[in-house]
Amino acid sequence: MFNLSRYFSTVSFILIVLAAGVLGPLYQKLSMQQMTDLAESRNAAMAQVFQNSLHDPLESLLGDSVGRDASSLHESGDLIRIQESVFDLMKGTSVVKVKVYNRLGNVIFSTDAKQIGESRLNNPAFRAAINGSIISELSHRNTVDSFDGALSNADVLASYIPIAGKDKSVEGVFELSQNVTPFVDQLQRNMWWVTIGVALVFASLYLMQFLVVRRAQGILRDQEGRIKAARDTLELQVGARTEELKRTNLHLEEEISERRQAQSKLNYLAYHDPLTGLANRRCFIERLEESLRETAKRDERLAVLFIDLDQFKQVNDSLGHGVGDELLVSVSSRLSEHVRLIDMLARLGGDEFICLMEAVREESEVEVLAGEIIAAFEQPFRIGDHELFLSASVGISLFPGDGGSVVDLMRNADSAMYRAKSLGRGNYHFYTPEMTAQAHERIRMENLLRRALENGEFRVHLQPQVDTLSGRLVGAEALVRWESPELGQVMPTRFIPIAEDSGLIVGLGNWVLRETCRQFMKWQTSGFALPQVSVNLSVRQLERPEFIEVLEQILAETGMDPTRLKLELTESVVMAFGDACTLLEKLRDLGISLALDDFGTGYSSLSYLKMLPVQQLKIDRSFVEGIGRNSGDEAIIRTIMELARSLDFEVVAEGVETSEQASFLAELGCQQLQGHLHGRAVAPAEFRARWSIPE
Ligand code: C2E
Ligand code: MG
Ligand code: MG
Repeated sequence: MFNLSRYFSTVSFILIVLAAGVLGPLYQKLSMQQMTDLAESRNAAMAQVFQNSLHDPLESLLGDSVGRDASSLHESGDLIRIQESVFDLMKGTSVVKVKVYNRLGNVIFSTDAKQIGESRLNNPAFRAAINGSIISELSHRNTVDSFDGALSNADVLASYIPIAGKDKSVEGVFELSQNVTPFVDQLQRNMWWVTIGVALVFASLYLMQFLVVRRAQGILRDQEGRIKAARDTLELQVGARTEELKRTNLHLEEEISERRQAQSKLNYLAYHDPLTGLANRRCFIERLEESLRETAKRDERLAVLFIDLDQFKQVNDSLGHGVGDELLVSVSSRLSEHVRLIDMLARLGGDEFICLMEAVREESEVEVLAGEIIAAFEQPFRIGDHELFLSASVGISLFPGDGGSVVDLMRNADSAMYRAKSLGRGNYHFYTPEMTAQAHERIRMENLLRRALENGEFRVHLQPQVDTLSGRLVGAEALVRWESPELGQVMPTRFIPIAEDSGLIVGLGNWVLRETCRQFMKWQTSGFALPQVSVNLSVRQLERPEFIEVLEQILAETGMDPTRLKLELTESVVMAFGDACTLLEKLRDLGISLALDDFGTGYSSLSYLKMLPVQQLKIDRSFVEGIGRNSGDEAIIRTIMELARSLDFEVVAEGVETSEQASFLAELGCQQLQGHLHGRAVAPAEFRARWSIPE
């Protein structure tokens, strides 16, 4: 740190010494000058006195002296007179010596007689005086010969004073030596006092300033300490803040990179199906849009293949979503093996896939790809312990021809897929314009279906179920029919899926249930006692929390005996419904029988089946159809029969049309038969007429 007091003490000491060094000599010089001036004026006054009192002898001596030698001057009477007068005048004064020079510089008078006759023509003081000026010289002499005797160590001021004649001209020069020793001594003493005084003043000033400066320095040092402490604190704070900023920066960078990752994940998700990793609908649409522009420019063709899995819903419903998801992943990887690198495979959602085939030269190329896709499902899929057999239906639309936009091409491929499905499993179909009409028809049907219930357009028909061995009527299945004024009679296979998709099935199903119970009771009270009646239930009905309540209400309303009612549920319905067991137990507790419809087409696990409070299995019509023609179907029926026996289920065979089928089933121990062999589903009146036992 800058040492203020040291700096100050050094500088002010130098300044004080300088001031003292300058002021002391100056004072001495001025005092000396003053003293000299005073002594000179006294010498001048003295000279005037001499001149006045010695006027005449002096004048004559000056006049006569020119050209005279020293010895003759000594003898001059004027000189003696002058000498006497001078001694008289000098008495009591400080004048110690008087000399008179003539114009030629010769000493014509001196109180020291030895000097008379000496020449001082070349003395500068004399020359100045002869020219009219008074000149004084101060000198220190070890000994001075005065007329009183010798003086030792004396300060003498010798003044050269012009002697003016009558005409004011200079006729000679007085040299008056005055003893100024007392003045000089006084001056020296004064000088000492002044020096001591000044030194004391300076010293006390110096001391005072030194103290002030030292105090200031103390304050400054104190302030500096505080500033340093504040700076240290500030530095610490700045350091901490910098660290914090660094951390914040790091955090920010992490956050930015996380956001980038999230963004790229979002981008990926925006264009990909998270489950299979295939392109998603959005990605497919954008690619198809671009491809359409390019294809139109190049005058080429492209194909859109809509792929739908035939039994995926059953797998998903019966084995759960986990297995369903794994299956979709396997399906997508198997499909990917068959599409060309330039083609694009995407998953639209659920079990729907779509493929874009570009640069199509001939339709046969598309047929080959469709065939390969279908063939890809020939081998079963292994998911965990399950071996699953699936098939796919493919609908194809072509550009140009089957539409000019993404929407048209996708919709038309979808319609073609529906047609392929209706032809049976594992088929492909090209789009034809009438399919659009069918799609429109589906929409129209849905609209008509909405009003059909209010308009009373539904009927319940009944199909008999007979005892295999005796051929006696053991029950009837209620099958709904739609007598549409616009469409004519519509079969359930056409409208039930639409009713299920639109949710209309709940109202319709409840109506069928009520109507069947009402009919049953009507017959019973009128003497036609049907042993049992079956009603089909949709999963949509079971899902409703108020289902049991509605059922109880219908039973109460119609007075139906619950033990005479059987409810048919498909395997997949039971599996799809989360808490099926509890619900079915409630139904059983009410006394209602339960049958598993279309048995064999689903994927029920044996263990689950064992737990279900079900009394009856209904062998699906498709297996009965294969009796005598397909050994696989027969094997399935045998297995179902064995299963039913071991789990103590009653078995009903659906779609029995021939006596061969009946006897095959009878041999295996199937208890009941239902099918055209014993009667189609007919209106209640016809049913009663057919099955009434004649009185
Ligand atoms: P499902 O419950 O399996 O009914 C048996 C179907 O097989 C009926 O078709 C019946 O007419 C038909 N069928 C019976 N015997 C033969 C035969 O020997 N040969 C042939 N080829 N077919 C035979 P339907 O009436 O067309 O009903 C079809 C399906 O619609 C039913 O299959 C059932 O799943 C559903 N369904 C019908 N009515 C209702 C209903 O009221 N509610 C619900 N949820 N579904 C219903
Ligand atoms: Mg049924
Ligand atoms: Mg059935």
